[in-house]
Order: sequence, then structure tokens, then C-alpha cells
Amino acid sequence: MATLDELKTKICGAVDALAGELEAISHKIHANPELCFKEEKAAAWLTEFLEQKGLKVERGIGGLPTAFRATVPGSAPGPTIAIMAEYDALPKIGHACGHNVIATSGAGAGAALAVAFGTLPFAGAIHVIGTPAEEGGAGKVRLMNAGAFKGVEAALMIHPRCGTRIWRPSLGIIKVNAEFHGKAAHASSWPWRGANALNAVIQLFVGLDAMRQQLRPEARVHGIISHGGDQPNIIPEHTAAEFYLRSESKAYLQELFRRFEGCAQGAATATGCTVTITTDPIVHDPLKPNVAMAALFEKNLERIDFPVDPEDPEAGYGSTDCGNVSQVIPTIHPYIRISPDGVPGHSREFAEWAKSPMARTGLVAAAKALAMTALDLVASPEELKKAKEEFAR
Ligand SMILES: [Zn+2]
Repeated sequence: MATLDELKTKICGAVDALAGELEAISHKIHANPELCFKEEKAAAWLTEFLEQKGLKVERGIGGLPTAFRATVPGSAPGPTIAIMAEYDALPKIGHACGHNVIATSGAGAGAALAVAFGTLPFAGAIHVIGTPAEEGGAGKVRLMNAGAFKGVEAALMIHPRCGTRIWRPSLGIIKVNAEFHGKAAHASSWPWRGANALNAVIQLFVGLDAMRQQLRPEARVHGIISHGGDQPNIIPEHTAAEFYLRSESKAYLQELFRRFEGCAQGAATATGCTVTITTDPIVHDPLKPNVAMAALFEKNLERIDFPVDPEDPEAGYGSTDCGNVSQVIPTIHPYIRISPDGVPGHSREFAEWAKSPMARTGLVAAAKALAMTALDLVASPEELKKAKEEFAR
């Protein structure tokens, strides 16, 4: 029987043979950006490709028409590992988050395993789960709630970036709305008869700015006034603001929300208004690290001589619905370089890099490392146990 090392060589060869096809699909997705929950073309191209390579494909899983599951079966029942693929774009700026590279590296990993082995030479199964709507739809949370990750013992994906990092934090988010209710009155002849809801919302921003000085450095509080009044000669009776509260820890996220409520109540009291606070039912969780799985991924990148970069002290952190997955099953979400240093995500510049030769190099390396790491986890019950024990601690 072949050694694990020989099996990995075979996987890498399969990815290299698929590279042209993967890049072509990546470019097609890039040229046809589809917003969250509307990724019909991308889902069709990816599932067609996976089916062609011999995977068993289920479309529309978890009640999401653009979600899918593609399976590489093992030699017997055993642990199931999921490789996640995203393929949604951003409004107006297209694939400025490079999800076309996530889609094709995840699908490429699954296709390479199927092409190399047909059936895995181990007990278990490897899934490629197509997860729609990362940008604004929290597709993975919906899929988890619908049971699409049931039975999955470990999950992995990559995200493109301006540098390769095995681990970077990702912040949890609570999305909050504050609506202030005052009293309308003529702004010139009877101002003393009104209660100014615009002053209340301004006071909320002032209060939060004062609060910010006492926040932990990684916390973020940022918002907009979504309704500021109707006409200058009317004391505004209704205003509204939307905020994202973000933090690296779930507990501190709740602390941020308590402080936000205090600021909003204070702003209402100070201006003689009342406030209604509502939160989005979907809370994004921060990423929970898994050192054991990250070490496997890093070793596999080393095996193919793909360099890992030092942390970039100039860059902050974003958020992902993968954070919610990482709180339920051992998960990794490493970053793969597809652009030079310092190119910010969600920029037109990054969208250009997402279809560059550098993106192809990143895509190929990522597909290899994802496939090899998934294989490590089904091949070695010891490695999977380490990941699960770390998760449980
Ligand atoms: Zn993204």
C-alpha cells in the first residue's frame, strides 16, 4: 500500500493537471459576479465540474438553492471532513474579496481527491460544501441551522489575501439598530414643544466616541445614520442608526452590546426621547483557532514550498460566517497570498488581483494544501483526535 507521502504526491499531481480548468472557472466566476443568494451561475459551473470529476453532487442543500454538497467517499464509514467553498461577490465592486479563488481552490481540492483516488484509501468521506452568501447573508449559519454540517467532524477553507497567514483572528459581529422617537413641532415657531430625535442620534454617536477610548484595541464600533429627519422646519420625531459591534471574543461582544445600550438609553434620556434597540438575529461569531489543524495545513504548504508571510502590523481584522462554524466544529480559515503586500480586500485593486497569475499560483497551492490536510484528517485518527480534543478544551 502507498504511503501517505506518496498519496500526497499523487494529489498534487492531480491538482497540477486540473490547474488550467480551475483557473478558467475562477475567471468565469470573476467575470460574472453574483450577489449573496443569487450565485446561480457559479453554483452551476462548480457542481458541473465536480460531477464531471466523479464526485456525487447534491444541489440546493439546507434549503439554499445555490448551496451544494459534493462527496468523495471513503473505503468504509468513518470521519467526515468538509472543505468549504464560497462564491458570492460584492455589490458594485465584484470579486473584490476573491471568493472566485475560494470556490475553485475548494472545488479543486475535492476534484483532485476524486481524480487521484476515486474512492479514498481510508474510512470516512471528504465533502466539498458550497456555502453561498458569505457577504451579508451568513450562508454558513443558515446551512448549519438546517443541518448541512451534521456529522462533519472538521472543516476547512482558505481565504485569499495580500499575504499568506496560517492564522489571523476574525471578529464576531452583533448588528444593532437604534430608533429614536421624539415629538414633531415647528422648528421655528414652536421648537420648545418638540423632542428632537436627531439630537438623540447625534448624542448616541458622541457617547460611543467617548466610550471608544475605553475599549479593547481589537474592538470595533461603527455605524451610520440611516434616517436623520424629514425636513429642516420640522423637529425630527423619528431617527434611526445602524451599527456593527465587533470583537475578538464572544463575551466581550456581549459587553459591547451592554455598553451600546447604555449610550443609547443615555442619549434618549438627555433629549427627552425614547429609544428602541433591535439586533439582527444572526450574530457572527469570532473565529476559534485550532492549532492542531493549522499545523497540518502549514506542513502541507511547506511540502509544496509555498511560503508563509509574517503578520502585517498595518492591517486590522474582518469577520466571517466561518467563525460560527469554528465555534461548533474544529475549523481552520488560513489566508493565501494572491496579491502583493498591502492591497486591501474589498477594493477594486484586489478585484484585479483576484484574476491575476498570482491568483492562479495561490489557487493551486491552496487546492493542494486543502486536499492534503483533509486527507491527513481521514488518514490519521490520531491527528483528528488532537484537533477535536483541542476544540473541546
Ligand atoms: Zn471574503
